[in-house]
Amino acid sequence: MNITAIDKEYVAGTYGRFPLELTEGKGSIVQDTAGKKYIDLGTGIGVTAFGYCDEQWTAAVTAQAMKLQHTSNLYYTEPCARLAKLLCEKTGMKKVFFSNSGAEANECAIKVARKYSALKKGAQCHTIVTLQQSFHGRTLTTLAATGQDHFHQDFLPLTPGFVHVEANSIEALHAAVNETTAGIMIEIVQGEGGVNPLTREFVAECARLSKELDIPLIVDEVQTGNGRTGKLYAYQHFGITPDIVSTAKGLGGGLPIGATLMGEKVQNVLKPGDHGSTYGGNPVCCAGALSVIERLDDEFLNAVRRKSGYVFAALHNAPGVESVSGLGLMIGIKTVKPAKQVVAECMEKGVLCLTAKDKVRLLPALNIPMEELSEAIEILKQVCGE
Ligand SMILES: *Cc1c(COP(=O)(O)O)cnc(C)c1O
Repeated sequence: MNITAIDKEYVAGTYGRFPLELTEGKGSIVQDTAGKKYIDLGTGIGVTAFGYCDEQWTAAVTAQAMKLQHTSNLYYTEPCARLAKLLCEKTGMKKVFFSNSGAEANECAIKVARKYSALKKGAQCHTIVTLQQSFHGRTLTTLAATGQDHFHQDFLPLTPGFVHVEANSIEALHAAVNETTAGIMIEIVQGEGGVNPLTREFVAECARLSKELDIPLIVDEVQTGNGRTGKLYAYQHFGITPDIVSTAKGLGGGLPIGATLMGEKVQNVLKPGDHGSTYGGNPVCCAGALSVIERLDDEFLNAVRRKSGYVFAALHNAPGVESVSGLGLMIGIKTVKPAKQVVAECMEKGVLCLTAKDKVRLLPALNIPMEELSEAIEILKQVCGE
């Protein structure tokens, strides 16, 4: 069977796929139809947090799949309740709404912020301030939140009520926030926007304004969350307390799940009937997520930060590398060669990487063994320097 030809004929042409048919994987190694092996530094865009078919994760997911695979939200199930409890205990947040993707986690976050602000200050208070170069998803509302025009083309009109300010510009933030502002929405490190971390001062000012003016602060941790940056959630590097945290990607370890965490201020905003999802809180996805979140303790997160330190040090001033940005194991590399060319040459040599804007982007498994990580980074360095 020619997988590529069939895919090209029948699957909607929304993706620019690499010429690579993947069949199976274990840990950080993935294999193609020809049997060639690759060290994977992309993890399905930060999703397979513990690599491919991790033993503990697979055991948790299959055990649940053999017991009860779905119930709808008309009934209580244990994995959903336990996951919500664990997320709240580890973050201090109060309530969780489960969905199936990052975009949906953000839709919920936006609904919560708008309802909170409309009830508190009136219906005119509905504008969400987000950042230029942000990425919040592909639904029409999360596209409106996304501060990159090229995603908007051909899909207008988008949901109204979003303004985008320059990231890290406190002046622009002050100019945009007013009595109609219902929420401030940020990524601590802009992932799709080019792996650009926000400055400490800017994050602090978002948190301060949010408190002073009673505007919910939404932190989109879809990509940065679940151990990716070396803390459970990236906002924890900055000592702030957001009102709403959305997450997805690595949370399920490879199964689709989104979560919107709500803090004290907004915990009771959503009432019965306000929001819902047929699949949300699915027991198999929640069992997978439990097995991910349970293992992200201090010792494990320390190891993530150590591996991050190794990658930053190895790439700093390496030939063909202009700069390295990011946090934890979310790393952007500005290369002399075009990023696309670096990724293609790495693939040829058995290493899978991603791009973000004009950078090479790495999102390796959080538990990638040091030997595999250093082997892959050596290959990447060689490609960059040639
Ligand atoms: C990937 C991503 C999203 C969208 O997630 P989907 O699961 O593709 O809907 C939203 N926000 C951020 C920061 C992301 O990285």
